[in-house]
Amino acid sequence: MKRFLGIILSLIMAAGFCGCQVSQENQPSKETTSAVSQAEETTVSALETDKLEWVDFKEYDLNSDEPVKNVILMIGDGMGENIIKGSQIVKGDNLVMQGIKNTVYVKTDSLSGTTDSAAASTAMSCGIKTENKYLGVDENGEPVETMVEFAKARGLKTGLVVTQIMPHATPAGMVCHYNARSVYNTLFKQMVNANVDVLFGGGSEYYRGSTKKTAEKNDYEYVTDEESLLKLDGTKKALGLFSYAGIFGDAVPSLSTMSEKALDLLNNDNGFFLMIEGSNIDIQEQEVDMEGTLKEMQSFDKAVNSVLSWAEKNPGTLVIVTADHETGGVTLPENAKPEDINDNCFTSGGEHTSTNVLLMAAGAQSDKLFAENTIENTDISKAIREQLNKTYGQAEVKFLNEKNV
Ligand SMILES: [Zn+2]
Repeated sequence: MKRFLGIILSLIMAAGFCGCQVSQENQPSKETTSAVSQAEETTVSALETDKLEWVDFKEYDLNSDEPVKNVILMIGDGMGENIIKGSQIVKGDNLVMQGIKNTVYVKTDSLSGTTDSAAASTAMSCGIKTENKYLGVDENGEPVETMVEFAKARGLKTGLVVTQIMPHATPAGMVCHYNARSVYNTLFKQMVNANVDVLFGGGSEYYRGSTKKTAEKNDYEYVTDEESLLKLDGTKKALGLFSYAGIFGDAVPSLSTMSEKALDLLNNDNGFFLMIEGSNIDIQEQEVDMEGTLKEMQSFDKAVNSVLSWAEKNPGTLVIVTADHETGGVTLPENAKPEDINDNCFTSGGEHTSTNVLLMAAGAQSDKLFAENTIENTDISKAIREQLNKTYGQAEVKFLNEKNV
């Protein structure tokens, strides 16, 4: 049944009705995709949950005194606090991300109200509130310096690693300037035109036409499977697309493997900015599918483990783990047991909510980023920029793409 749902999801992706944009009307419901009776569903759900392979809890001891050389921003798309707690209950132990000591709450609303992933990404990337569907542009549609542009202007390497299609809203907001989020071909072209050093994710269907030409001109090495991914040696910029659409569940390469390779390729004397997204947490929450959501949480936490392990050995690395918004209105019963964590916990019909999300920070300067216990999502961008400015100095704003082109 899960495999079948996966295929349905892929078809939706292929049709371009992706991620946070999916309207309720266009989503396959449980009723239309499953002939399983309610009683059977409950049994199957419990069994499948037992099969989840959570990464073991480990508390990392990262040095926070060093100046910030590298920034790794990890975003669980739609990862509200309650889905973290729900995952913890099912696992029967803390998630690795829960071992991170510096935490604040983040307000996520955009100028449109409850945010979509585009406006949220723009907030974390550019430090401004904008309208939903806008990427790297303000409310008037004018370009604002993205995090990739900011980092590149200071000589840092840059990377984006995701489990959705490469030009999806969250990664696109880190680079692109467009007042629309569904123009995937153009957004992808902007990404390779901006010479982002490492781009790993799904969405090979969009690697064509002027995107492909621009990538070839800009000397990208293109890989499509794990074996070739692991062979990349960093002599060229890296573009890896490992699925026609999204990379779900335990498909390979895992987010963790892609992240480890990205760190390997980006590590250099002048630092890097890397955004890693657990993109499909949100997609599964929109499907009101707890089992699918937990699989994506497991995959994201494993990537957090890989990143913290790397950062522990590489002082000067700031790791921020957060979410762009909550999805699903996840509500947990009091004293919930593992069997209570099921589809019934979703209360918003798969919609995003305005609930504050958690931000967890570890490593360089992680205890000095924010003065308040509750911040705006725009403060994430501001805090990263403040730290990088201290280390690398100011630089002129240079847009790497024209808006809407
Ligand atoms: Zn989102």
